[in-house]
Amino acid sequence: MAHNWKPDGWKAHEARHLPHYEDAAELAEAEATLSVYPPLVFAGEARALKADLADVANGHAFLLQGGDCAESFAEFHPNNIRDTFRVLLQMAVVMTFASKRPVVKVGRMAGQFAKPRSSATETQGDLTLPSYFGDNINGIDFDPVQRRNDPARMVKAYSQAAATLNLLRAFAGGGYANLRQVHQWTLDFMGRTPWAEKFAETADKIGDALDFMEACGVDPATVPQLQGTSFYTSHEALLLPYEQALTRQDSLTGDWYATSAHMVWIGDRTRFPGSAHIEFARGIGNPLGMKCGPSLEPDALLELLDVLNPSREAGRITLISRFGHDKVEEGLPKLVRAVKREGHPVVWSCDPMHGNVIKSDSGYKTRPFDRILSEVKGFFNVHHSEGTHPGGIHIEMTGQDVTECVGGAVAITDEALGDRYHTHCDPRLNAAQSLELAFLIAEMLNQ
Ligand code: PEP
Ligand code: MN
Repeated sequence: MAHNWKPDGWKAHEARHLPHYEDAAELAEAEATLSVYPPLVFAGEARALKADLADVANGHAFLLQGGDCAESFAEFHPNNIRDTFRVLLQMAVVMTFASKRPVVKVGRMAGQFAKPRSSATETQGDLTLPSYFGDNINGIDFDPVQRRNDPARMVKAYSQAAATLNLLRAFAGGGYANLRQVHQWTLDFMGRTPWAEKFAETADKIGDALDFMEACGVDPATVPQLQGTSFYTSHEALLLPYEQALTRQDSLTGDWYATSAHMVWIGDRTRFPGSAHIEFARGIGNPLGMKCGPSLEPDALLELLDVLNPSREAGRITLISRFGHDKVEEGLPKLVRAVKREGHPVVWSCDPMHGNVIKSDSGYKTRPFDRILSEVKGFFNVHHSEGTHPGGIHIEMTGQDVTECVGGAVAITDEALGDRYHTHCDPRLNAAQSLELAFLIAEMLNQ
């Protein structure tokens, strides 16, 4: 258990990107409500994920983490949950098949609401209002009532997370993820991508392998690993009042766990030494992610690792690098070398999204597919030259046929961005682009 730690100890530390709530009584009421609600996950599940991530850290598995930049109340719909889950399964199958290694599946789902913003305010015409900070804090519509920080939104977000997680658990364990279903996972509109055909080929091969096993006397219906899958949830632990209210002591071990998700991560803007977010994270037993951008120096990283993982437990820490396609090969090696030198067992994962945002000519914030791919390639190159394991990928994606990132095989053009640009925050890969990326990563894993 972490030394000298309390669930509210973060309050004595510098907190960036936390909302200010005008009405303390309203905040206290929401916190009190949440603090007696059931945990969303059980500590044992968080430990199971940590064990899976330890396999990734040791080079025997790969991590696939993905989902919305920001989940929203407006996009809350069973079909959206199903489609994102389905694309993640497809990606995992493609990568498992190519690499012959397990893929650990973690959704940016069931709790990914709060957003750090580069500017605290937004101006339109002569009106300046607080920025939108995510649906668990305020509303996206540009009006003073919607933009007010409302603690009751945390309770609504909890309910949405609970219902989302419930459906994910049902899909993962209830037959939907059965490998015999692999052909059924193809989404209709994916028919337009050349990769859909390649996916059907992989699905055929999996079907043949299952038939072969069956002919040899192994009934796939009796093999739990083929009947369902493990699927975990994660989000940025940004909104500390919410996280604290859902932090509980595990009755088995006495350790504290964030029960809002299996894994939580610390964002690039809140991971400085001594921050409130680091203080909170060091005391919870969950596997932790930490974003590593160009401003992170090796010494600061090592200091953070010593605070977050003093016992050097494999699977505890996933370092998610997000440098940008043109900076990764220059910036990442010094971090990798320092971590290797000090013997910290980490999962190295690549977020090729957050360093590759551009403003398109049509005015939309977008991410070119070729830059995303180029950052992933750079990440693999660095790990291959350093002798470390390129362990995972962290992406913003959706199962919907959105037009938010330009490029890909079914090329989304600048002009088309306005067609179906639905994101509540950053641009996401659509289903076809996600599958395409999975095939291209599969090639890299196969090398
Ligand atoms: C995010 O993952 O949505 C995010 C804000 O990333 P970062 O902290 O890396 O900027
Ligand atoms: Mn984002």
